[in-house]
Amino acid sequence: MITTASLAPAPNLVGSDWIMPEGVETTPVYNPSTGETIAATPDSGPAEVDAAVQAAHAALPAWAETPVIERVRVLMRFAALLEANFDEITRLITREHGKTLAESRGDLRRGIENVEYACCAPELLKGENLENVARGIDCEMVRQPVGVCAGICPYNFPAMVPMWMFPMSLACGNTFVLKPSQKVPLTSIRLMELLHEAGLPHGVINLVNGGTAAVQALLTHELVRAVSFVGSTRVAKIVQEIGTKHGKRVQAAGGAKNYVFVLPDADMPKAVDGLSDGAFGCAGQRCMAAATAVTIGTAGDEVVERLREKLASFRVGPTDREPGGQMGAVISAEHRENVAGWIGESVDEGCELALDGRAFRCEEEPNGFYLGPTVIDRVEEPMEIAKTEIFGPVLNVMRFDDLESAIAMANRASYGNGACLFTQSGRAAREFKHRIKAGMVGINVGVPAPMSFFPFSGWDESFMGDLHVQGRESVLFYTRGKVTTSRWFQPGEGDIWAR
Ligand code: NAD
Repeated sequence: MITTASLAPAPNLVGSDWIMPEGVETTPVYNPSTGETIAATPDSGPAEVDAAVQAAHAALPAWAETPVIERVRVLMRFAALLEANFDEITRLITREHGKTLAESRGDLRRGIENVEYACCAPELLKGENLENVARGIDCEMVRQPVGVCAGICPYNFPAMVPMWMFPMSLACGNTFVLKPSQKVPLTSIRLMELLHEAGLPHGVINLVNGGTAAVQALLTHELVRAVSFVGSTRVAKIVQEIGTKHGKRVQAAGGAKNYVFVLPDADMPKAVDGLSDGAFGCAGQRCMAAATAVTIGTAGDEVVERLREKLASFRVGPTDREPGGQMGAVISAEHRENVAGWIGESVDEGCELALDGRAFRCEEEPNGFYLGPTVIDRVEEPMEIAKTEIFGPVLNVMRFDDLESAIAMANRASYGNGACLFTQSGRAAREFKHRIKAGMVGINVGVPAPMSFFPFSGWDESFMGDLHVQGRESVLFYTRGKVTTSRWFQPGEGDIWAR
């Protein structure tokens, strides 16, 4: 097993070799609960990327020719190994990310579900055919792998997001190069080890640690055929532009600013539970975070009052031990300052702080990257705080007189990831799900993240490309269709070429 001991660099995986790139800068990896540096990610460049891509390219012919049931058998063994090592992996996720152990279990569980879905590849990869498309002529379509694929990941789901990508890509017969976030490289290293233990042939998966330079090299490498990206919208746009310019198919999931609507007829305790879990789960570092409560009429005062009450006893603290905090730290000291800066900015813009988490200090771990939960009331549409993804434990509250004007506001926003409604009215729910501009909708559900067999469906600035991760769209993304039209002549039948 690769050691992830203190300050160990996070090596790259090239074919069967774990390699520490020499002479490159490194980025520190922290345990956010304590602020300690626990590892260092090498800033790989074009040479390291080329070695990994060449290894993937060399392994491609044999893997693509491996019968799908054999490919899937490896993934079944991988899923079993993930279960067998579940606790160890969740502790690793918490250690490098800072989320609670329960949240890490959710992160890994969602990842395993994607492996399980990829195990359905023999069914999912079946093609189409039709006899007699013209007299004596038949047509069939099969799906074949696209080639070497690359995956570029964000820091907030160290297990789930990589497993949105490589399991289905491998099941479809591609080989893969994974580029995890430089902030959380250790979970991916463990996943690669378990893939090899499951019997994945060497070279079929490779791993390059690094940041911008590694991404640029992947996007411009001529042997990379498809790129899956998940991260901020700013980088998603760069990835889509450079990747498509270099002839690759690209799926790029970006950032978000999600709305959770609350009508006055909602079951208020449940709505407030949904809001606080949605806003403060993973310390707000989720693309499906409930960033904004949109309250209608009298719901505004009640939601703010109930949130204040509920959050007064909220336990913020270290998550790398038990019993841990209900909410952990954010990813870095720099990110904490950034989030705190936005809270200050909201006050300058004229908002009211119903709850201010900036003053929170964790006595047990004074060097951890903590912020308390923050509720910003009376946010208005033109304000920067209303539009910008903060990605921390901060909930905006926007108040409206009626559902109509609230939906109109949400539909003018640039992102289109998630939107939820808490109500007891079927009519309002029907209207909302039909008209709201978002790819993932929740009715009395605070975080409507789809399961592995449905696409993770962001719209507008939350997604660049055509085919999303997860579900059947991922099968289409990682394969290309080949249509064969055939005719077989009877002996003596007129030969068109002879005419
Ligand atoms: P990020 O965009 O900073 O980084 C994502 C990846 O891009 C990393 O691997 C990083 O090394 C690389 N990268 C960073 N800057 C780059 C540049 N200039 N050029 C090329 N590559 C670059 O995102 P993050 O902070 O790691 O993650 C948080 C973001 O991810 C949030 O915006 C969140 O909403 C988003 N996210 C979206 C989804 C989704 O499904 N839509 C899911 C998870 C996270």
